[in-house]
Amino acid sequence: MLRPAWIVVMTVVAMALLGCADADRETATLVDAAALAEQGSGDNWLAYGRNFSEQRYSPLAQVNEENVSGLGVAWFVDLPNDRSLVGTPLVVDGVLYYEGSYNVLRAVDATTGELRWEHDPQVIETAGDRLRLFWDYSRGIAFWKGAVYQATMDGRLIAVDARDGSVLWSQMTVDPELPLVITGVPKVFKDKVIIGNGGTEFGPIRGYVTAYDAATGEQAWRWYTVPGNPADGFENEAMAMAAETWTGEWWKYGGGGTVWNGITYDPEFDVVYLGTGNGAPWNRRIRSPDGGDNLFLCSIVALDAETGEYRWHYQTTPGEAWDYNSNMDIVLADLPIGGRQVKALLHAPKNGFFYVIDRETGRLISGEPYARTTWASAIDPGTGRPVEVPGARYEEGGAEIYPSPWGAHSWHAMSYNPETGLVYLPTMDIGAVYSDSGVDIKTWESPDWAFLGTGVELVLDDAETSTSSLKAWDPVEQRAVWEVPLPGVWNAGTLTTAGNLVFQGRADGRLVAYRASDGEVLWRFDLGSGISAPPITYAVDGRQYVSILVGWGAAMPALGTSLSAQHGWAYRVHPRRLVTFALDGEVELPASPPPFFPQPIDAPDFVVDSALAAAGGAIFDGKCSICHGFGAVSGGSAPDLRASPVVPSHEAFVEVVIGGARRPMGMPQFSELSEIQAGALQHYIRAQVPSKP
Ligand code: CA
Repeated sequence: MLRPAWIVVMTVVAMALLGCADADRETATLVDAAALAEQGSGDNWLAYGRNFSEQRYSPLAQVNEENVSGLGVAWFVDLPNDRSLVGTPLVVDGVLYYEGSYNVLRAVDATTGELRWEHDPQVIETAGDRLRLFWDYSRGIAFWKGAVYQATMDGRLIAVDARDGSVLWSQMTVDPELPLVITGVPKVFKDKVIIGNGGTEFGPIRGYVTAYDAATGEQAWRWYTVPGNPADGFENEAMAMAAETWTGEWWKYGGGGTVWNGITYDPEFDVVYLGTGNGAPWNRRIRSPDGGDNLFLCSIVALDAETGEYRWHYQTTPGEAWDYNSNMDIVLADLPIGGRQVKALLHAPKNGFFYVIDRETGRLISGEPYARTTWASAIDPGTGRPVEVPGARYEEGGAEIYPSPWGAHSWHAMSYNPETGLVYLPTMDIGAVYSDSGVDIKTWESPDWAFLGTGVELVLDDAETSTSSLKAWDPVEQRAVWEVPLPGVWNAGTLTTAGNLVFQGRADGRLVAYRASDGEVLWRFDLGSGISAPPITYAVDGRQYVSILVGWGAAMPALGTSLSAQHGWAYRVHPRRLVTFALDGEVELPASPPPFFPQPIDAPDFVVDSALAAAGGAIFDGKCSICHGFGAVSGGSAPDLRASPVVPSHEAFVEVVIGGARRPMGMPQFSELSEIQAGALQHYIRAQVPSKP
């Protein structure tokens, strides 16, 4: 097979420059389909889920249940300019690659953390008004042959030379006029790289994925997840089939179905599985007024990897109306079921049911609740469809439903250990009251943000809810084998190893190691800042490391509310770091400040005008709450405005909000606002400050 010319050129140049490193070059791992298909030694962490299987299982066992209590910090890197860090680093032959804030890509020595190179794609410059949609985070990157692939939040897919960080090619994968962003991870297979995007809550958009030639960036194929306007003709037979399941003039609303996270390549069947998103808008009565399943929302869809042609689908939530997208990770595992080894696919989407699917046929093997599910009582094994609870579609007014739009499981990746046969699944128990009372479904127009058409209020005051746990789930028996409660609700993804271990970072800043077989806590380490990223493990020169990015982030810390604010991970108060552990690691981690709860500042001269505050509230909900938090209660992603000295000063506030004074730091510019509207915002924010007795 011919290697792309750039690899040949690069290798020659590198060999000339490095000379004595020739021997290393000979033994360097070729990251290709063969490498990504196998379990390997575990030395490398080659892909988001370590390899094609997405199992996040490592065969390394130097660190194990007997000695894990001896883990200490081997090295760390302070990341003072980073904020939300939720990504999975990759390790290839002793070099660790990861993305920081605004997709700044770095390569460091995996044994010391020493920086090799950094590539800044200048996201703030490129994003324009789409900065308003951003939560400033990325879940990770891909590696194929000699290149690292990153998808920037503003929608570019960029191939970077793994040796020096120089750009090989860059493609814009979205129409910059549409409210689409990328937080997800490009996936690679057979000289192709595939990426989706997100944005169903931001406006009328139609989900799709695009596959590109990994060497050139040329588009190979694109596949839409929902049908467009029939008058324009359908792209393929699958879209014609899907259109039969929609009613009314759905295309005017885009339909949704974005693929913002779960994409898994299966080398055994040469297919790509997509996990598709929720409807746009959420309310089916608006987007498809006479009902219908609305394919391919909230589904697993199998596509031919070569051509992008539809193979099969399984829809987890037909006629979606609760934001129950199926974007969660898709794990491949061979399971003993019914006396044979079944090539299965494991999926725990937001809707609270754990699905085991025969990935050869797309047929449901089993689906059982892994969390409280009051919208449906069961999955009918005959039809594979949920048995919905009457009233769950809030057709008779407000309905309290579990799970909430946060899901019983979000993108925080689960892991699967073939030794224990268990899936390690971070789960949440949060409810919400859904209602479309007062929404005229015939004339509905979307506000700036929140393309929902449904009112949603989280159930936050019930001591029994808004909890979370780590569940060790037996996918064959469909039951929890062990379960441990977790702090808050926003806990990170898991890693499991042949050392009979499960590692998980938590909302309270602890990285914890459990015995994989029974859930006993064997080791914990306080990292001094909320953790939202999953750990990885790798080995260099025979020494095993465990590495994790530390930086409270993603949607919940952005949207705020007490669910996030309860931990006291205030904006820029606590350290952001890349921390790596090894047995007998002896590096001292500098102490972190204790949890900090921003206190509203005094502004005795600022007298709140309630009418202005009310007007400002509507603007705040549409433009500000997505980063500064509902009710101006920051969850840690952005400053808590109740504590901001900028807010009481009209001049300073106008300079930031209308003038864009802090745009270089990522604060969007709202030049369309009048000074009167900015003033209304000030009054709204100050009205959220509790008055002194
Ligand atoms: Ca959604």
